Amino acid sequence: MAQPAPSSFILPPSSFFQTMAVLPIVKYGDPVLRDATRPVTEIDVPLQKLIDDMVDTMYAAPGVGLAANQVGVSKRLAVIDLSVGKRPGGLHVFVNPEMLEAEGEITEEEGCLSIPDFVEVVTRPERVKVRYTDRNGEQREIRGEGLMARALCHEIDHLNGTLFVDHLRGFKKERIMKKIQKLVKSGMWG
Ligand SMILES: [Zn+2]
Repeated sequence: MAQPAPSSFILPPSSFFQTMAVLPIVKYGDPVLRDATRPVTEIDVPLQKLIDDMVDTMYAAPGVGLAANQVGVSKRLAVIDLSVGKRPGGLHVFVNPEMLEAEGEITEEEGCLSIPDFVEVVTRPERVKVRYTDRNGEQREIRGEGLMARALCHEIDHLNGTLFVDHLRGFKKERIMKKIQKLVKSGMWG
């Protein structure tokens, strides 16, 4: 998920980037975003490297969430950090996340790193409960409220091949899809 207030992000010193592996983010129109991802069966060294690269990619974007298929890997894996790396303990790694409960409704602006520069209001559950495996292989549950609930819904949607624009209806949807299709056709999103 795109960071709600990108202007508040302060770039780290340039030396910080030398050890980073920032992956290209797949944009709207790539079929990998539409396929349901495959469950992770083993938390091995290549998966740990993928997790690290996804975290670097999310922070560099900057964004508050990233799903594996957004870097072209069709695995059920996502990362979320609402602080974009500023708060210790803010980073969450979700292996095979599953929505257990969702309640309430809240309508807020939302964006996506795979649909850059577009924001639209989307109605999401206000509170959710998600079961997942962490990067150490431990089974966990997390309760999310507000922006955390929104990010969890947004990233789990990605893993199921759904994008935030799919939740829009009517004129709003037509308007945004027309603009996006124009960009896709022009090849501006590569
Ligand atoms: Zn997204």
